Amino acid sequence: MSEKKKDASPLSTALKQIELAGKALGLSQNSINVLSSAKRSLLVSVPIKMDSGEVVVFEGFRVQHSTTRGPSKGGIRYHSDITLEEVTALAMLMTWKCALLNLPYGGAKGGIKVDPSKLSVGELERLTRRYTNEILPMIGPERDIPASDVGTGEREMGWIMDTYSQAMGYAVPGVVTGKPIELGGSLGRNSATGDGIGFVTNLTLRNYGEEVSGSSVAIQGFGKVGSWAAKAVSKYGMRVVAISDINGGIRVKDLESGSLDINEVEKYKENITLLADGINIVEISNEELLTLEVKVLIPAALAECITQENADGVKAKYIIEGANGPITSEGDKILDSKNIIVVPDILANSGGVVVSYFEWVQDIQAFFWDEDDIAQKLEEHLSKATQHVFAYAKSKNISPRLAAGMIGIERVAKAHQLRGLHP
Ligand code: NAD
Repeated sequence: MSEKKKDASPLSTALKQIELAGKALGLSQNSINVLSSAKRSLLVSVPIKMDSGEVVVFEGFRVQHSTTRGPSKGGIRYHSDITLEEVTALAMLMTWKCALLNLPYGGAKGGIKVDPSKLSVGELERLTRRYTNEILPMIGPERDIPASDVGTGEREMGWIMDTYSQAMGYAVPGVVTGKPIELGGSLGRNSATGDGIGFVTNLTLRNYGEEVSGSSVAIQGFGKVGSWAAKAVSKYGMRVVAISDINGGIRVKDLESGSLDINEVEKYKENITLLADGINIVEISNEELLTLEVKVLIPAALAECITQENADGVKAKYIIEGANGPITSEGDKILDSKNIIVVPDILANSGGVVVSYFEWVQDIQAFFWDEDDIAQKLEEHLSKATQHVFAYAKSKNISPRLAAGMIGIERVAKAHQLRGLHP
């Protein structure tokens, strides 16, 4: 047994956030009870024939937390540790994120308990199609619109679009977002989450009177989010001084003025530690990356990497949550006591769902926008939400996390109240 003190689970953290924000908003316990429950949860068995001929049954989930403000929206994750509890917590986060960004959606999330790296392409395709078939009654462009997440990407979204369309008898591109462009995907979707992180980081530093150009940034994770975030912050003149992936991390020796060449790091995407030369670039662990002396830390890998165990060692002045739920509530309290500014996931990484929304709108209208339109509309949405969060936090003397949660939760609670309780 580990001696480590265990932080709360993602679901209890999510529920605590609703309780806290609900109380601060003066919501009734009745309202908090409704917001704390997922509308629908589906647990499915996904049997597939492996290449060996053996039939293996995987466990799959789809949770719709809310459909009060519109159809539900949220990614599908393939990961060996995923649980119904975690999927439920992530679906809740999606509800507040969509409301904060004022998108006409509720929140959802799905997933399969599987390590996708252990499956062949054929097995992954059969798994994705059978899972889609199992959750078919729950999804649709007007009901619930999945998207890619950890362990899934354009390829899987294409299979989902095809499986759903085969069942309907006609092409339905609006059933899923994060699709290849050729199937009705949107320009700018791949980079959207990372671009948004760059934009929000820039606004945050400016909001607190910091010099943006030359600021040092450490990024945990170099996947779909981390790699684009690295490029985006570099465009604002920030210096990416450390990056990590599942194999470990690298940092420039000279944190004061050095910076990593992101295009060079890209070449080592399979294992970035191989870029270390021991002279200008040295190898570090994921744990060390989190405690580097930098201005900005962007955790962009998995959940719960900053906890009560390591929060005290964090030296960054700003943390921009690229991943969903990278800080536990116990870790958050410690960061708060150290006056570290945390920009929460529901704001920081919302660029992805904003462009997913644009993709869905384009699919429904069957009219597609160019890249400049998308970049401009993305900035408008993020700028409005970010300014709102900082102004709200300042006016109430609360953290940006509580402010973002309160804005999102208040919009959903208001919609609940206006619709009334059925029957
Ligand atoms: P991804 O699978 O593309 O990349 C994950 C990265 O994390 C990889 O570089 C991987 O090597 C690294 N990693 C995995 N395990 C690690 C570990 N134990 N320690 C350190 N690094 C590790 O996933 P992604 O799409 O980039 O998503 C990352 C996070 O961002 C997730 O929390 C996801 O929910 C969130 N997110 C993603 C999007 C999106 O558009 N993809 C949008 C919003 C939020």
